[in-house]
Amino acid sequence: MSFSNSSPAIVIIGAGFSGSLVAAHLLKTANRPLVIKLVERRPEAGKGVAYSTTTNGHLLNVSAGKMSAFPDEPGHLLRWLNYNRSALTGLLPEDFDASTFIPRQVFGLYIQSILEEAEAAAPSNVRLERLEDEAVAVAPQGQGAVVSLALGQSFAADRVVLALGNAPAGVKTDSDPAYLRHAWSADALDDLAPDAPVLLVGTGLTMVDMVVSLHSRRHVAPSTPCLGGG
Ligand SMILES: Cc1cc2nc3c(=O)[nH]c(=O)nc-3n(C[C@H](O)[C@H](O)[C@H](O)COP(=O)(O)OP(=O)(O)OC[C@H]3O[C@@H](n4cnc5c(N)ncnc54)[C@H](O)[C@@H]3O)c2cc1C
Repeated sequence: MSFSNSSPAIVIIGAGFSGSLVAAHLLKTANRPLVIKLVERRPEAGKGVAYSTTTNGHLLNVSAGKMSAFPDEPGHLLRWLNYNRSALTGLLPEDFDASTFIPRQVFGLYIQSILEEAEAAAPSNVRLERLEDEAVAVAPQGQGAVVSLALGQSFAADRVVLALGNAPAGVKTDSDPAYLRHAWSADALDDLAPDAPVLLVGTGLTMVDMVVSLHSRRHVAPSTPCLGGG
């Protein structure tokens, strides 16, 4: 890696799963001074769309033994779960092993803790700056770029990592309040009457989440998935 100056900055836009792990790996492996700016518009880093859910019935679709964040340490997640067993009481089944499908919110805590540990163990000249803001522009400048944030700040970056995740579906809604474009928002189902029929456009993971959420809210009207986006 070659940089334009002696105090390089890597800006990571998006601190979900990918952005947080890129930051953690940089913190662990940097062997020269480095500033890592981690820009996330959500209040919490580490969770992104998939692991921000607070519905415990939203499970990982892969078992715990296969979801380590480190390919060379396949047992890492399971060890972390066992080590944090008492703190996770109420979120995990009493007995769990490599074949257990754990709640996604627990996986979010795991990613957060990896980032926190990497930050705490990093050398003093390798610094993580967390910025709660939305990146609105990246403009090339010299060998790097200038990143601008919604709240008005902008800064130079030697490298920019785009870890933006999934955008909400681009279906046209014509502002119809009955159509919910961003199914991942925490208040998505707040105004839904329990006897209102629901059409779920898409047959992927988000659809499964919505069915689980409707079920846990004791929704009584039929919900019908139909083929569309994920
Ligand atoms: C409902 C659902 C369930 C899933 N379940 C699983 C599962 O069980 N197992 C599995 O392996 N994978 C699952 N996935 C896939 C999962 O999303 C990916 O594996 C992984 O989490 C994607 O990571 P990411 O970093 O690309 O996106 P995310 O983790 O979503 O992170 C992107 C982040 O970028 C931020 N961001 C975007 N634009 C900007 C901007 N301009 N400025 C600042 N911040 C910005 C967002 O706020 C977000 O936090 C699921 C996905 C969904 C949608």
